[in-house]
Parts: sequence; structure tokens; C-alpha cells
Amino acid sequence: MHRYLPHFAARPVPRYTSYPTAAEFTDGIGGRDQADAIAAIAPGDPISLYLHIPYCHSICWYCGCNTGAVGRVERLTYYVEALLAEIAHVGRRCAGRVQAVHFGGGSPNALSPAQMLTVAGALRAHFDLSPDAEWAAEIDPRSFTAGHASALNAMGVGRLSVGAQTFAPIIQGAIGRIQPFATVAKTIALARNAGIDRINLDLMYGLPGQSLDDIAATLAAARTLAPDRVAMFGYAHMPKLLPRQRRIDASTLPEPEARFWQRALAHDLLLEWGMQAIGFDHFARPDDSLAIAARTGQLRRNFQGFTDDPSPTLIGLGASAISQFDGLIVQNEKHVGRYRMLAANGIDAGVRGVRRDAEDRLRARVIEQLLCTGRLNLGRLTAAIRPPRHAWDELCDAGIVTRDGDEVSVTPSGQPYARLAAVLFDRHRGPEARFSQAI
Ligand code: SF4
Repeated sequence: MHRYLPHFAARPVPRYTSYPTAAEFTDGIGGRDQADAIAAIAPGDPISLYLHIPYCHSICWYCGCNTGAVGRVERLTYYVEALLAEIAHVGRRCAGRVQAVHFGGGSPNALSPAQMLTVAGALRAHFDLSPDAEWAAEIDPRSFTAGHASALNAMGVGRLSVGAQTFAPIIQGAIGRIQPFATVAKTIALARNAGIDRINLDLMYGLPGQSLDDIAATLAAARTLAPDRVAMFGYAHMPKLLPRQRRIDASTLPEPEARFWQRALAHDLLLEWGMQAIGFDHFARPDDSLAIAARTGQLRRNFQGFTDDPSPTLIGLGASAISQFDGLIVQNEKHVGRYRMLAANGIDAGVRGVRRDAEDRLRARVIEQLLCTGRLNLGRLTAAIRPPRHAWDELCDAGIVTRDGDEVSVTPSGQPYARLAAVLFDRHRGPEARFSQAI
């Protein structure tokens, strides 16, 4: 079922974890807009929280996240102080009811177990948290301890996303992330022993020197860990935007066609395990909530990728964290020093973003629906946002979508190219190549 379409695979397209995308953010949006949006949340409205920890004990060369090396431990102390100030400042003005809490980064477990518990205590003190709220955290196995496992369990975290990427030692060397399989296995065992029984595993294709054999071997090893979900991300090499990637030898990166077949092999092997494909880069056990959401039309897409979190409002806390409200997307100050200054002075930390008018919100819903369900009824869309016929014809001719009257469906072999259908609804996209290739 896999079809390599070089012309389409190489096209730069956004990941559409939001619409408008971060490329449309400007500094015309700031803390006052953020404050107004927080104040407009009605009592009991469902919201989710995202907390960003912009530190890791060791920086991986491929990483595209806003993170830096911990260095002196005082940095963490000062950062937690700022985060606690922001939690109190936002929480006391936010009337929403929290349905989900996600810790990301960076590495949340760059914090000590005691610091994690302090942050969780502040969330409980200042926000109205639903007792059923799902708590999740991303973690770096290289610095994960039994103390972290029991702290996370005490906080209420029931799901961990474990960064693994590849189990091939030579590729780990080429991406600056030496992490033996035993380290990952021990991390997962510690989590499960502590009572955290839902495990996501993050893997990558398109890494330097990676081959189909490496993909097969990594997935065979991953299978022994029995994860509930697997995310299979393509490495995006953008050294001009991300200077740390300059340490990766670009001459050893797989060619576009090799990337395509690596993704295809991973897809097939994960389905052989009995996993269900979710969107274009996630896989889940059929009894996992993400797979159930996909089957029942409840799948969503937010800054974490595909999700079953239904909250329409996301509040980001921490340096560079992004909040999404109905009419506004706003990002906190990225620079940790400046973020700390804002938080310490009780100033809302948003410094850039984009407003969403009614047309943006409609386009956002259409893009999300296309990526989450693979289907769309063009007849229900206003002429203003309906793409021209020739744009669909190109995708139909390539077998990426089929069209039956007004009904458009992404084909099974077109799934990896689904963002090329989504981009037709993006009124901001020009021919620029700021985004990574589709596959
Ligand atoms: S551990 Fe994760 S967040 Fe930290 S540098 Fe590596 S990839 Fe980036």
C-alpha cells in the first residue's frame, strides 16, 4: 500500500499542531491579550495545562525543542520559583476546570523529585483540578530515577512519554544521545513498579546512518517493552534554524526515498504487532484511549500532536509555553532569564502570538478534521475557504485523496501525505521552505 511520490514527499509543509501555525506569530500579541483571554474563561469551562521545563541534563544534537543544559543546579531552583509564581498568578484568575495536565520540555525529570512535587502541589492549590484529570509527562531515561517514578505517581501522573528515538548504538553516537536499551527498559520498569502503567515510546526515522535494518531492530527491541503508544517521528534537519543540529553530519542522512521506506517499514511492523495507526505518525494499542478516540471520531490535534484531550482551551505555563484560546494563540517569553523576570513581577509572560478570527477557527477545524479523520465534506464549506478544484485534482491524480462529489477522503497510501491536503486550507502558506519536508 505504500507509494513513494518524490515530488510530494519533498514539499515543505507545517506539522499543523496549531492553526495558524507558529510561523504566523508576531510580537503584536502579548501579556495583556493573554490576561484578557484567561479572564474570559467561564467558571467550570474545560481547560488543559501544559508546563514547559526548558532544561535537560544533556543536550541531544537533533533536538528542536526550546531547552538548554542544566549546568548549575541553582538554575532549576530559580526556574521553579518563576514557574510557581506564574502558576499562582494565572491560577487565581482562571475559572476553568482542568481536565488534563501535561509536563513537557526539555525534560521534566531535569527537576528533582521534590521540585516536581512542589510544582504539582502549586497546581492543585491554584487551579480547579478535576479529580479525573489525566496527568502525563515526557521524560529522559538517561536521568530518570526511582525517586522520579514515585514522585510522578504521587502527583497523579498516569502516562509517561519515554524518549528513545533509536536503539542502534552507532546512530545514538551520531545524534549525541548515548542511551543503551537497558537504560530505557529500566526506566519503564521503574515507572510500572511505581504504578505508572501507560507508556508512550518516541522513536525516529531519517536519522544519520539509519537503515531499514536499524528500524527493524529498534522496533523489535521496542516491542519487548510493550508500550501502549508509539510515536514515529521523521528527523527534520534544519541546522540554519537549530544550530545544535550542525553537529550532525548531513552527508550521512538518508535520502528522501530511504526516509520514506523507513517510515513505511515502521508502519508495517507496528501494525504487525497489532497496533492501530493514528494519523500520520502515531500508533496505539487498540484498547488505548487514543486508538478509541480515533475510532469514535474524538481524535484531536494540539501542540503535543495527536491527542484524545477534548479541552478547547490550553494554558501553557513556563518559558516558551504556548496557550491556545478560541480567538488567540499566545507564546510565553522563550528566554528563561526574561521569563523569570516577568513571572517574578506578576506580569503575564506572553510576548508573541496570533489572533484567530472566525475564518481562522473554521480553517483550524477543517485542518484538524482532515488530519484526524482523513475525511472532509467540501459542500459544507464556504466558497471563501474551499480550495480551487485543480488543487484537489493534483492530489486525486497522485492517489493521495479520492473525491466522490463533495466528499474527500485521504487514501490509505495517501496518509503520509495528509498534510499536503491540509495545507490547501492554510491561507498563510506561500512557496517559502521554512518547514520540514512532508515525510
Ligand atoms: S532529552 Fe529530549 S528535550 Fe532534551 S535535548 Fe534530548 S531530545 Fe531535546
